[in-house]
Amino acid sequence: MKITKVEAIPLRIPDLDSSRADGIQDDVIVRVHTDAGITGVGEADASPDVVKALVDAPESWMRSRGLAGMLVGEDPLHTERLWDKMYHGTLWMGRGGVTLEAISAVDIALWDIKGKALGLPVHTLLGGARRTTVPVYASMLFEADRGLMRERASRHVAEGYRAVKFGWGPMGPDLATDVALVRAAREAIGDGAELLIDAGAAWTAQEAIRRVDAFREFRPFWLEEALASDDLAGWARLTAAARGMRIATGEQETLTGAFRDLIEVGHVDVIQPDLARAGGFTQCRRIADVAVANHALCVPHAWKSGILVAATLHFAATLAEIPFVEYTVAASPLRRDLVRTDVRVADGTAQIPDTPGLGVELNDEVVARYRTDR
Ligand code: MG
Repeated sequence: MKITKVEAIPLRIPDLDSSRADGIQDDVIVRVHTDAGITGVGEADASPDVVKALVDAPESWMRSRGLAGMLVGEDPLHTERLWDKMYHGTLWMGRGGVTLEAISAVDIALWDIKGKALGLPVHTLLGGARRTTVPVYASMLFEADRGLMRERASRHVAEGYRAVKFGWGPMGPDLATDVALVRAAREAIGDGAELLIDAGAAWTAQEAIRRVDAFREFRPFWLEEALASDDLAGWARLTAAARGMRIATGEQETLTGAFRDLIEVGHVDVIQPDLARAGGFTQCRRIADVAVANHALCVPHAWKSGILVAATLHFAATLAEIPFVEYTVAASPLRRDLVRTDVRVADGTAQIPDTPGLGVELNDEVVARYRTDR
């Protein structure tokens, strides 16, 4: 089997509001076609047109090549070798960041092809599912309107979610505001659900340590992205001061070495690689191995379409220890309608997909409606 074509398709809803911390108002999906008639699909959580440029870029020289040009004619089953080829072929424009995010989309599509070609779900190819279902946490934004926040959060708890994450939005400017937000969040979900707090990299280490102390009475399961991701000295200070509160981060990172540093230098308790940013299945397996070796939790970040939801569940199915998986409840039609086969979630629990490949089928009408490249 040979790859015949790699296409990146940018998508965007017409009423996109870039002031919101909601990354599923646009998207870029990658489709990899083969001479066997099998097509794989992936997506990147990154600027759609930049990813498309990285896929389509003409060859410059051996360390500066577009992804499509490197892949056409290759065997799509060679996921590990092709990942390394893409990484080394983009060294002059990559070594992380959006180039790794583009590689992520291609890698997910290659694993989809491999699963379809072998008639096996991706989690079997990754080593085998340890579970058929996994709890998911409802992931939502803090809102300046506390009434709206309470109403949404209590609805999710009534729907059966046993964990709810609040993030970004008005969190960050001063201690009193932040404590009021966390108090409102805990009151909204009651004592029967886990509360997760995501600060969106709002503070310095000193400010974050003040929040750890102030938030403790509201018993968050974790405090996420308190600091700039690369503030390794800050993570070390924060984790030393956290006294039992789990510290989580990593959604911005794209390379195994960055996650290793967060664990080994920053001593964070939970790393959060995103399959659509941190190198797809191929590299996220390596990242998860670093977590296992250091007795840290690996709980993937995921805030994109049903493609990433499915990919994340395949990955999560194979991890030895995982408390729950992120599940965005954003209302964007790209979140809700891009795939016809979204995973089933009931009572705060997702079914792990069990059909060949990722087990998703793109809704071509939705792709046609929101694509921006024609
Ligand atoms: Mg986050």
